[in-house]
Amino acid sequence: MQLYNTFSRQLEEFTPISGKKVTLYTCGPTVYRDIHIGNFRTYLTTDILRRILKANEYEVTSVMNITDVGHFRLSKETNKVIDPVVEEANKLGITPLELSKTYTEQFVKDARKLNILEADVLPKASDHIEEMIEVIKVLLDKGYAYEADGNVYFKVEKFKDYGKLSGNTLGKMDQLLEAVRVSVETDKKDTADFALWKRADDRVMSWESPWGMGVPGWHIECSVMSMKYLGVSLDIHAGGEDLVFPHHEDEIAQSEALTGEKFVKTWVHTSFLSVEEEKMSRSKGNVFILSDLINKGYTPLAFRYLTYQTHYRAKMNFTWEALDGAATALNKIYDIAGKLPEGEGYADKYEVEFLHVLNQDMNMPKALSIVWEMLRSDFPDQNKAAALRRMDEVLGLKIFETAQKLTDIPENVLELSYERDKLRKEGRYMLADQIRHKIENMGFEVLDGKKVEGKKTETKILRKL
Ligand SMILES: [Zn+2]
Repeated sequence: MQLYNTFSRQLEEFTPISGKKVTLYTCGPTVYRDIHIGNFRTYLTTDILRRILKANEYEVTSVMNITDVGHFRLSKETNKVIDPVVEEANKLGITPLELSKTYTEQFVKDARKLNILEADVLPKASDHIEEMIEVIKVLLDKGYAYEADGNVYFKVEKFKDYGKLSGNTLGKMDQLLEAVRVSVETDKKDTADFALWKRADDRVMSWESPWGMGVPGWHIECSVMSMKYLGVSLDIHAGGEDLVFPHHEDEIAQSEALTGEKFVKTWVHTSFLSVEEEKMSRSKGNVFILSDLINKGYTPLAFRYLTYQTHYRAKMNFTWEALDGAATALNKIYDIAGKLPEGEGYADKYEVEFLHVLNQDMNMPKALSIVWEMLRSDFPDQNKAAALRRMDEVLGLKIFETAQKLTDIPENVLELSYERDKLRKEGRYMLADQIRHKIENMGFEVLDGKKVEGKKTETKILRKL
């Protein structure tokens, strides 16, 4: 199995540290608002990776952290460093832990809708403060960190390998350093140094430490939680491309300074998702969350299918048109699967090829084309059925489960669905949505993008479970 390793910048034959066991850590969400589809693209990559490893008979232990404290950022409005969880909770008049609990649950629900396998451990940063303090103490003892006025910083200069992941070695990091140059950190000895512990005077959410009341830095959270649950050396560490620097670079520095062991064998990063060729941004109003897709009548699995059409290391351009195309294609697969007999046997040629391309750095666009090739081939139907079932273990598109839900549709439900299609074509989504609710109340759910055979509707209707 070949994987691209960001650290070596090349494709490598993947071999776990210990036999068939694989440890996988993914940087999870910061839980103060709904997770957008760009983040979910990253989590889908991890999910696919897990499923491919399983298809190769590896035994995977997967950990994804929940950041509920310490992911500081510079507020554009106030030009102050803020913890978004605390800030958002203050706005709503609830506690930060109440807020993060709500959004963690929402994240888990959304991930489930995308058929993302839940991590074996989903640790929260706020549950691991003691361990973080212990690690920071050791880094201080070893001379890799220093205290300044209630803050503790990591001394980047002391860690000789700093910059190897991102290429931002000391001396040529000026540009990217702007990203970490935080105005209030005036007590740092060097601009490249980063916070392990930050003084927190407001006490809304802070903990006692040998350096006074404070909160951990975001980077130390990941080092501590990954090593606690998976050991000092991980097989795979995954995350979005935007985390390479400084987050992952800093994770390496802290972890290796602490243990003296190599922290991660293979780094896997998912590229960005843009919307209509534009960077997602709140000011442009093009930051979409899963419920935006669902409210327009798309199933989350159509988005899952859509992500397969772009290799995870290439920039993905999200458009509604493309999502519509993905929904149509996926519905066609459901339709075909619904007509296949209960099957046994193999479709060797296609299955071998399928696994082969999965093992070529997760080539999902190719994998999809092999699925289609097989479905269109004149291979016996029962072999196709059995093969498709196995392929879906990796694809996670719930193919047979959904196909089974296909059912005859009563005339009155169809009439409503024609009406809804008409409204959608006219862009009257709110009214269309009301009709969708009506259909749902009649015991059916709606899935868009498919012509129901012999009828005029372009909507596929599935009976609710
Ligand atoms: Zn992380």
